[in-house]
Amino acid sequence: MSNDDGPQGLPAPPPLGSSALSAGTFDGTAVLITGAGTGLGKGIAVEFARLGASIVIASRKQDNLDAGRAAIEELGAPVETVVCDIRDPDSITAMVGAASEAFGLPRVCVNNAAANFPVPAEDMSPNAWRTVVDITLNGTFFVAREFARRHLAANTPASIINIGASYAWTGGPGFAHSAAAKAGVKNMVESLAVEWGPYGIQVNGLVPGLIPHEDMTADITANLQRADPEKDLLQPAMRVGTRREFGWAATFLASPYAQFISGHTLVVDGANWQRRFMTNPTVVPVRQQMNRGPFNPDP
Ligand code: NAP
Repeated sequence: MSNDDGPQGLPAPPPLGSSALSAGTFDGTAVLITGAGTGLGKGIAVEFARLGASIVIASRKQDNLDAGRAAIEELGAPVETVVCDIRDPDSITAMVGAASEAFGLPRVCVNNAAANFPVPAEDMSPNAWRTVVDITLNGTFFVAREFARRHLAANTPASIINIGASYAWTGGPGFAHSAAAKAGVKNMVESLAVEWGPYGIQVNGLVPGLIPHEDMTADITANLQRADPEKDLLQPAMRVGTRREFGWAATFLASPYAQFISGHTLVVDGANWQRRFMTNPTVVPVRQQMNRGPFNPDP
C-alpha cells in the first residue's frame, strides 16, 4: 500500500484478547469500576479481568450489573456486583464496604459512571443540569473520596482513574452540563493527585474518543450514521476506536509500569479532539444540529 492509494489512517489494533502487559499483571488485585455493566466501563473491566484482576462493578440497575457479571464470568475471573447510586455518599460507603468484604479493599478504582444527553443550553431544565453534574462531577468525587479515605486509613497504595471527556478542554456545545462536569473531573484529577500522592495514591484521568459499543446512546449512534464511511474522513485516524484500546490504556495507567504518571489525563481518540480547519467551517447552531425549531420559552 502506498500514499498513492490515499491516506490510510492509523493502523488497526492487535486483536481482542491480546495485551501489552504480562499475563497475571493484576493477579490478586481487586479493581472497582463504576458503571461497568455497560459500554466502555464493561470494556475496561474485561481488560483488567483478562490480566487476572477480581472485578467489582457498581451501578444502579440490576440488568446492567448482570450484563457486566456475565462478561467477566465468561473470562473465568472473580466478579462481584453491588447496587449503588454514586450521587448518594451512604450508598457509596456501603458499596465500597461490600467490595472490600468480597475481595479486600480494591487497589484500583475506575470512576466511569456518568450521565449525559444532548440539549441546547437554553432548553436545559435546572433538574437536567443538576442531575448530570450530580452524577458526573459530584458522584466521581464522592467515590474517589471514600476510596482514598480507606487507603489513607490502611496506609496502602492505590490507583484512581477518572473517565473524562475531551470537551473538558474545549467546551461541548449541546452538552453544556456534561462538558462543565467533565472539566471539573479533569481539574479534580490534578488536585487529588497532588493531595494524595504523598500517601501512595496515584490519580489520573482517561478520555475516550468515538468508540462504538452496543450500549451507545442515540446521539452517538446518530453521529456515526450521519457519515458515509466510504467517502467521509470522519476522524484523523480514519477509523473509530475499539473498546480494547481504551481498556488497554486503563490497565496501563493502573499497572506497575505507570506509577510515576499521576495528575495526567490521557486522551485515547486518535487526535480527533485536536482537529481544526484551515479556514473557518460553517457555524451550525446547536438547535439546527438537533433539528429543533426556534426557541420557545413556553413549550
Ligand atoms: P454508558 O454506557 O451510558 O455507561 C454509563 C454507566 O454509568 C452505566 O453503566 C450506568 O449504569 C452508570 N451510571 C449512571 N448513573 C449512575 C449513578 N447515578 N450511579 C451509579 N452508576 C451510574 O456510557 P459509556 O458510553 O460507556 O461511557 C462511559 C464513560 O465514558 C462515561 O464517563 C462517559 O462520560 C465517558 N465518555 C464516553 C464517550 C462515548 O463516546 N461513549 C465520550 C466521552 C466520554 P446504571 O444505569 O446501572 O446506573
